[in-house]
Amino acid sequence: MSFKDLKLNRPILRAIAEAGYDNPTLVQEKTIPKVLEGKDIIVSAQTGTGKTAAFALPILQGLFDRQDAPKKGKTIKALIVSPTRELAQQIGDNFKSYSSYTNLTTTVIYGGTSIEPQKDILKKGVDILIATPGRLLDLHKQDIINLDYVETLVLDEADLMLEMGFIDDVKKIERLCTRDKQILLFSATIPYKVEQLASSILNAPERIEV
Ligand code: AMP
Repeated sequence: MSFKDLKLNRPILRAIAEAGYDNPTLVQEKTIPKVLEGKDIIVSAQTGTGKTAAFALPILQGLFDRQDAPKKGKTIKALIVSPTRELAQQIGDNFKSYSSYTNLTTTVIYGGTSIEPQKDILKKGVDILIATPGRLLDLHKQDIINLDYVETLVLDEADLMLEMGFIDDVKKIERLCTRDKQILLFSATIPYKVEQLASSILNAPERIEV
């Protein structure tokens, strides 16, 4: 299978080619069509399988296709929640490279660093936000972040997120977004706690294993 078979459009195909990817990985083959269909999914995949592109590419494609819809301005339309700043940064770098031929914008926010520059960037508006849970909630409390327009919520490394004690934060973040959104849950393993979280917030999810 090729990326073209996955019905990705030109600006995205161009960025993929530039990244040096020849063909989709297995998790990308399985996940991209489901995300494009708008389904909620639970994906069990390890880091290194290409799972970031598996959610980033179809999210970008969807946002790119809907860009001409009535303008809501720059609002956060995709929110990716990640347990650590390193992961958040990596995901952000991927989104930025895959979207380099679109005018979609990406910002990464995390704790342990000065909040003011993050506020300034967010105030200008952004399409895609990648965030660690604590800093996200902090900025939301300060009214800097509006999650009313989130169309897709990604919970990345959900098992790690729960191990790190972020369960209540994750649930809170989910409730702050609109009800009518797509949720993509990625986890290396699916222990009982992840199952419980999934069944409390996902809507008829499909399961993908690689
Ligand atoms: P991830 O599992 O998302 O951490 O990705 C692992 C690595 O695989 C990253 O360095 C990606 O840039 C790379 N990668 C992702 N998709 C592909 C692909 N289809 N072909 C080659 N490399 C890829």
